[in-house]
Amino acid sequence: MLTNRHIVILGGDARQIEVIDKLIGLDARLSLVGFDQLDRNFNGAVKAKMEEVDAGTVDSVILPVSGTDKDGNVETTFSNESIKLTQGWLDQTPEHCTIYSGISTAYLDKVSHETNREVVKLFERDDVAIYNSIPTVEGAIMMVIQNTDITIHHAHVIVLGLGRTGVSLARAFHALGAYVKVGDRRPEHIARAVEMGVDAFYLKNLADEVHDNEICINTIPALVLTSRVLSRMPSGSFIIDLASLPGGTDFRYAKKRGIKAIITPGLPGLVAPKSAGRIIANVMVELLQEKFKEENQDDA
Ligand code: NAP
Repeated sequence: MLTNRHIVILGGDARQIEVIDKLIGLDARLSLVGFDQLDRNFNGAVKAKMEEVDAGTVDSVILPVSGTDKDGNVETTFSNESIKLTQGWLDQTPEHCTIYSGISTAYLDKVSHETNREVVKLFERDDVAIYNSIPTVEGAIMMVIQNTDITIHHAHVIVLGLGRTGVSLARAFHALGAYVKVGDRRPEHIARAVEMGVDAFYLKNLADEVHDNEICINTIPALVLTSRVLSRMPSGSFIIDLASLPGGTDFRYAKKRGIKAIITPGLPGLVAPKSAGRIIANVMVELLQEKFKEENQDDA
């Protein structure tokens, strides 16, 4: 149980509702900042503004998957008010206060260093990233169907990056009957792609591999779909860039070439907020219970 533990949920989207429900079930004391427009009240949680939360009593802060922007601002779907995680506020929290975020950002790294507060990045965990690849793939399939006039079956699909999301994408598009080719830089990933029954090539040869592309799905958070590569890709192609912002595509050049390229952050929250929220909620509960158990042992 998380009885008497004060947890602040700072902004976020519908995924956080699953987290809130789960933490209430464990008897945590919750302050919800950035939820004033959410048309639902929670027994055991208080909607508050940042300045109303007594930082000195806070055990944990839960941020949205995206963390903060470069100035510390936190995205929220359920409020028009701007929410900021400031260094001054964090300084007032107890030393054991831990921040949970989906990903790290330069701002979070900086304030975590300066205030000596730990930041736990949920999406760096393999289990979370792999579970999260499930709604991501479903979202990618939806985007492809909405943005192309061909079937996935027998389409020429390139998946860039055979990481945790890339594996799930390659497998799903292959299962739907697409001709899938995977581009990656590591020999072991090339071997894995071949084992999965899809074609594979080294990224350094990408420009030579795109001539028959119809759908390209990028998961590499680095500029890989350069103007040189795009100049060899058929102009009617569709690119869906899943990599974290700013993506891996030269979007300006793609537009000039007549290639439809879209970047789609947060697909799990868009297509399956409940399932995506459960993934986060389950791991949050595990981490918080582990942390407070350790603290209780230290105090004993
Ligand atoms: P991952 O397991 O780390 O996979 C990333 C892949 O990109 C790996 O194959 C990695 O190769 C490769 N890569 C990274 N940097 C590279 C570079 N500079 N040059 C060549 N290859 C490079 O990550 P993931 O969990 O699959 O996530 C992939 C991306 O998708 C992330 O940016 C993540 O934030 C994003 N994502 C977005 C959504 C969405 O809704 N849009 C959902 C889930 C994930 P190495 O192993 O050799 O580094």
